Amino acid sequence: MDGRRAAIAALERIAYILEREQEPTYRVRAFRNAAAVVRALPDAELEQRSRRRTLQSLSGIGPATARVIEEALTGVTPEYLQRLETVASPIPDGALALRQALRGDCHVHSDWSDGGSPIEEMARTAVDLGHEYIVLTDHSPRLTIAHGLSVERLREQLDVVRGINEQLAPFRILTGIEVDILEDGSLDQEPDLLAQLNVVVASVHSKLRMPPAEMTPRMLTAIRNPHMDVLGHCTGRIVVGRGRPESEFDADAVFAACRAHHVAVEINSRPERLDPPKRLLKLAVETGCRVSIDTDAHAPGQLEWQLRGCERADACGVSAEMVINTMTADELVAWTRTA
Ligand SMILES: [Zn+2]
Ligand SMILES: [Zn+2]
Repeated sequence: MDGRRAAIAALERIAYILEREQEPTYRVRAFRNAAAVVRALPDAELEQRSRRRTLQSLSGIGPATARVIEEALTGVTPEYLQRLETVASPIPDGALALRQALRGDCHVHSDWSDGGSPIEEMARTAVDLGHEYIVLTDHSPRLTIAHGLSVERLREQLDVVRGINEQLAPFRILTGIEVDILEDGSLDQEPDLLAQLNVVVASVHSKLRMPPAEMTPRMLTAIRNPHMDVLGHCTGRIVVGRGRPESEFDADAVFAACRAHHVAVEINSRPERLDPPKRLLKLAVETGCRVSIDTDAHAPGQLEWQLRGCERADACGVSAEMVINTMTADELVAWTRTA
């Protein structure tokens, strides 16, 4: 149903602009929640409620969001969105072109670890967004607060993914993990199992404040690990609320190693992370690193966040050829195998 797509797109676009303009989170969330409600509504009910003006009786939809949905369903650009577009600074063409060029997302969580939704729901949303694939990257065992997957559960997940892939073809869920980089730089999962996965994202989640003299070798050891493909949110910083400072490490050495060992540097699009900071992203680009523009989505609506990463990438001189998720699924899998 085209109307549904238009309504979701309008709501998401409004949320995106409000977020860019740094409006309060509750306003942003209202539009994103409404998009999620629309996404879950059967076609007939959506159409009927819109006609009868009863969308507001649904939890998660208020007067403003109902109006946006009703207008979008009739094929016009909602007035609310029109008004916002005239005050918001335009998204640079380069960022839009990068977003267009993306074929997938290499960092996505499900309710198998700390995500909020089943694998299939994440995948179906990615299909709706026009993606050709996602990489499922649930957490590794040591991250117990995020229900990291044991060897057994990860094996079980691989079977489940195989089944879903049969249903969603030609869309593909590529197998993966967000594996913890342990304090000694080793990766928190059995090497044999890591070798079987399509894409291995590795991230630091513990002891983020260790001195650079320890953090640099820790990261270098991980990057030299032949199973690692993507360096996740490299500084670990949090830029909202109380925040969290960047981890300190020798960025020249780390990015040089990423280049040498064919590890892509992730541009993490989560609004509270926006990692790496632009000065480091520019350094990674100058060093000749590949990058991966990912959402780190923990819920279906968050799969929309890539445009933000694309804006940062564009501002730092990233071209589509540098981005690993502009490759097709087959090319990506071949790249991680040889890398
Ligand atoms: Zn992470
Ligand atoms: Zn993650």
